[in-house]
Amino acid sequence: MTTRSAGMVCAHHHLYSTLARGMPAPSRTPAGFTDILELIWWRLDSALDLEMIRWSAMLGALEALERGCTTVIDHHESPNAIEGSLSVIADACAEVGVRVVCAYGVTDRHGADGARRGLEENRRFLAEGGRGMVGVHAAFTCTDETLAGAAELASSFGVGVHIHVAEGSADRDAPRRLEGLTNDSWLLVHGVHLSDTHGLRGTVIHNPRSNMNNSVGYAAPARFANPVALGTDGIGADMLEEFRLAYARSREHDVTVGPELAWSWLEAGRDLVPEAADDSVLWHHGDVDPWYLAFTPGLSPVEVIVDGDIVFADGQPTRVDPVEVRARASEQAERLFARLG
Ligand SMILES: [Zn+2]
Repeated sequence: MTTRSAGMVCAHHHLYSTLARGMPAPSRTPAGFTDILELIWWRLDSALDLEMIRWSAMLGALEALERGCTTVIDHHESPNAIEGSLSVIADACAEVGVRVVCAYGVTDRHGADGARRGLEENRRFLAEGGRGMVGVHAAFTCTDETLAGAAELASSFGVGVHIHVAEGSADRDAPRRLEGLTNDSWLLVHGVHLSDTHGLRGTVIHNPRSNMNNSVGYAAPARFANPVALGTDGIGADMLEEFRLAYARSREHDVTVGPELAWSWLEAGRDLVPEAADDSVLWHHGDVDPWYLAFTPGLSPVEVIVDGDIVFADGQPTRVDPVEVRARASEQAERLFARLG
């Protein structure tokens, strides 16, 4: 028996990380979250060029569609290929048929000029009519001037800021740094080390698998007054799987919690991008019920409709050849790994 649902939304993704699987191992085993950033992700993002970004986004978008995710809110960083990068990602997603909200993660890690170029990429993309937000890596890698500049740029376009907040203990100071800058359109990603009454405005984006993988702790997002939505932090876009994991992690924390809580976080993604509610996903079996889905792995879409267009039919994407996308992405992964090795 098939069942139909609205489109799934991944409220925090890094499409640039899709090629990272199988990358050369770091020089030593990372001992904590900051090490993971320095030895893995900041090594990877520095090596990216626009062609790698394009195929990483194509594969990420394809994988999203294959799991019924019609909308990706992306957060991008490529310090040696900043200019034009958001358009490359937007074009790749459009080619596959997945809706994307782009942002470039501004940071002062590469000096004031790097931060300026990151802000300019956000501005250029928004000014050209791109669907986006203003991205910021995190308060702990930005000066006060950059944080204020990002908030001001976002306000001038009437969009929010998409920023990692208190993911690791290195960013504990984020509420003080961001005080007075946030509003309800911001995405506060992770919030693991935020106090219950942190005072920041915006939607908290919970990424349970990533938080477990980085051993940063449990965000316990039910404690916040803010709305909460679910993201993957770059580990695919299988939102039913992320929901199951969010449920299991919430249950480990509090055995009295039902799956309705994690389900409400999944559904809140559609408050961020309301058109996703009009998208349609026909699943090969099942029942759109939190208790059923919390214990049912492997649901596959048969048909996906985005903005009225059938972008996935009979279990296959209609606009791209998945074999070719995987082959081209694999070529780009080899180029990337050669640079990293
Ligand atoms: Zn992230």
